Amino acid sequence: MEVKKIMAALEAKHPGEKEYLQAVHEVLESIEEVYNQHPEFEKAKIVERIVEPDRIFTFRVTWIDDQGQVQTNLGYRVQFNSAIGPYKGGLRFHKAVNPSMLKFLGFEQTFKNALTTLPMGGGKGGSDFDPVGKSDSEIMRFCQAFMLELWHNIGPDQDVPAGDVGVGGREIGYMFGMYTKLARQYNTGVLTGKGATWGGSILRPEATGYGALYFAEHMLAKAGKDLKGKTIAVSGFGNVAWGASQKAKELGAKVIAISGPDGVCHVADGLTDEMIDYMLEMRASNRNKVEDMATKFPGKAVFTAGKKAWSIKCDIALPCAFQNELNGDDAKELLANGTWCVAEVSNMGCTPEAIKAFQDAGILFAPGKAVNAGGVATSGLEMTQNAMHLGWAGEEVDQKLHFIMESIHNACVKYGTQPNGKVDYVKGANIAGFMKVAQAMLEQGVI
Ligand code: GLU
Repeated sequence: MEVKKIMAALEAKHPGEKEYLQAVHEVLESIEEVYNQHPEFEKAKIVERIVEPDRIFTFRVTWIDDQGQVQTNLGYRVQFNSAIGPYKGGLRFHKAVNPSMLKFLGFEQTFKNALTTLPMGGGKGGSDFDPVGKSDSEIMRFCQAFMLELWHNIGPDQDVPAGDVGVGGREIGYMFGMYTKLARQYNTGVLTGKGATWGGSILRPEATGYGALYFAEHMLAKAGKDLKGKTIAVSGFGNVAWGASQKAKELGAKVIAISGPDGVCHVADGLTDEMIDYMLEMRASNRNKVEDMATKFPGKAVFTAGKKAWSIKCDIALPCAFQNELNGDDAKELLANGTWCVAEVSNMGCTPEAIKAFQDAGILFAPGKAVNAGGVATSGLEMTQNAMHLGWAGEEVDQKLHFIMESIHNACVKYGTQPNGKVDYVKGANIAGFMKVAQAMLEQGVI
């Protein structure tokens, strides 16, 4: 395999699909050497097959807003790869959603899910519906219209969507209600991230953030460090940032910055439990403004418009919001301020320039598909509980999440340890995930 040749062919076939091409390039670069030691992969054209989704559904979603106006959005489901299990991955509702974004996310999901140790293939979906400023009734009507189209193509052993940016417990509830009405079956395992009283797993809402901090604990321990007393900058204030802030505080670190599209809040004394709880209200309000934190807690949170979390001096940076939210200039600023660890909690949160800057500087860096896998892993645990028609206690789920994050860290160490003894977590995660999916594809023949 030659990365350049494959990328050139893909660029010609999918022009302008920026995020998708970026995600594929990162994985292929990491696996090139190992792949070329496996002529059986080359013979079965595994790389050429693994970079293309199995199929993509595109559909129109029509709904009526609070003013009685007809609105039209586009809906998608990318069923990327089902070599190791049913398609699994979230739905993203965001105005910038397009096929490139969902293909990158589905591609990443395939390897992330392989890392979790659970039998889940990769999928992703969503819509260009913009939840900002929408009322609860509008959200409900949109979710119902979206499910009206999607329901035929999903199922507990077929494809299991969940949340992502713009889709949380509320949206999953509205979609599940509509699914049940259409299917005339209580298929609990058709979606994950459900409410705790109707088949949802305890700890699923917290799992992405908690898992990220468990992973960070292992990464720091391997480097002879720990979280106690360390300062952390977090981007975003959604579900992921909320869980990460909670666990960071519990483990003795101080979250001193959170950010939003409007700017950053500097919290010199660290987020309090009350402030962390308030993040949930900020998310539910659909205002998408981090300034609300400063308004609610004057004097404690200081808002600066137009600045990112990466402008605040911190030990550890946790991007928790969106792809490419931390670029080369941000990386320079962080490094100049002495940041020594960056763990991507968002999917592809750092640009290639930023990752290169961190790696050149020799600081700790781990990619989203390893760090944030606790979310989908706990979705996998929800599927297991649903299939058994029972629910585990929080301690049991947490214990399993701990075990999974430790296994992912071990896999990164196994495949990513460099001759100098340092761990390249990007390489480690990509090779470990790839090898598992590639081997399964090989064993299942050319299909
Ligand atoms: N959207 C999350 C992710 O990026 C979770 C997906 C899921 O739980 O299926 O992994």
